[in-house]
Amino acid sequence: MLPKIFNCPECDTRLKDVVYGLLAGPPADNEVAGGCEWSDFAPTKVCPKCGWEGALGGRSWPIEFTRRTQIFDEAAPNNIRNEQRDYNLSTMTDEDLFELGRGIITARFELVHRGLDAQAIDDFYDGLEIGNARDWPLIRKDACFIFYNSETQLVEQVCTYSAQRTMHEFQYLRAGFEEWEFAETLSDFRDVVFGMKSPSLQVWEIDLDHNHEAEDDESEAFHYGSKAIKAMLAEERITEDELSREGDKYDLPISWPHWFDSGMMINFVANPFAPH
Ligand SMILES: [Zn+2]
Repeated sequence: MLPKIFNCPECDTRLKDVVYGLLAGPPADNEVAGGCEWSDFAPTKVCPKCGWEGALGGRSWPIEFTRRTQIFDEAAPNNIRNEQRDYNLSTMTDEDLFELGRGIITARFELVHRGLDAQAIDDFYDGLEIGNARDWPLIRKDACFIFYNSETQLVEQVCTYSAQRTMHEFQYLRAGFEEWEFAETLSDFRDVVFGMKSPSLQVWEIDLDHNHEAEDDESEAFHYGSKAIKAMLAEERITEDELSREGDKYDLPISWPHWFDSGMMINFVANPFAPH
């Protein structure tokens, strides 16, 4: 649920684990003995090349950092005042961490590190009004939307959305596609999700996990055993009754789940390996 750190942030060398306490034998190749003094601020990773130490108390994120923000100020030149503030996550109250966590994901990590329930943290940010916190669920969210034309009874497109932390992914499938496609740009994404707009459009959310059919193993990854997706690929009609066995219809068509952030997705598509 929390990100892990494998390589040195300074020189990209594979890090070694610092192990504490009395060791039964010499430390393994990927380990370094750290002595007997353990604390919540003891480094748990060390770089064998440049000597960087970190992952304090098992955290993969820094506790201390400085944040620069621009604040509107009528008295300042150009009405903008630069403000700089130092943070130390480990000394902040839970309440302050929740507040900071609206825009800084490591504050949410710190709450998990303190033992707070990740689901409760996600629920807190989920419950805020849209725009008051970034969509960074700690626990992965998935959704599959069926874009259905109620007049022709054809499924026109299937979209899957997933989000965990800053990794947001989107894929879509239509009849005739060889495989699931990604959207490379925001305008591609908008063309895909708004492209089916019509008075007869219905959007259904189906649960792919419940459609598992063992005998379908070969093509499972393609249609996930879903009757709706199979009907689309075969360009066959499917009734609302049949769709209702796989999922639920939205009262009004929506284009993506409220927790999905297409801007996050574009960052992820552009460079899936960049640190976030
Ligand atoms: Zn290093």
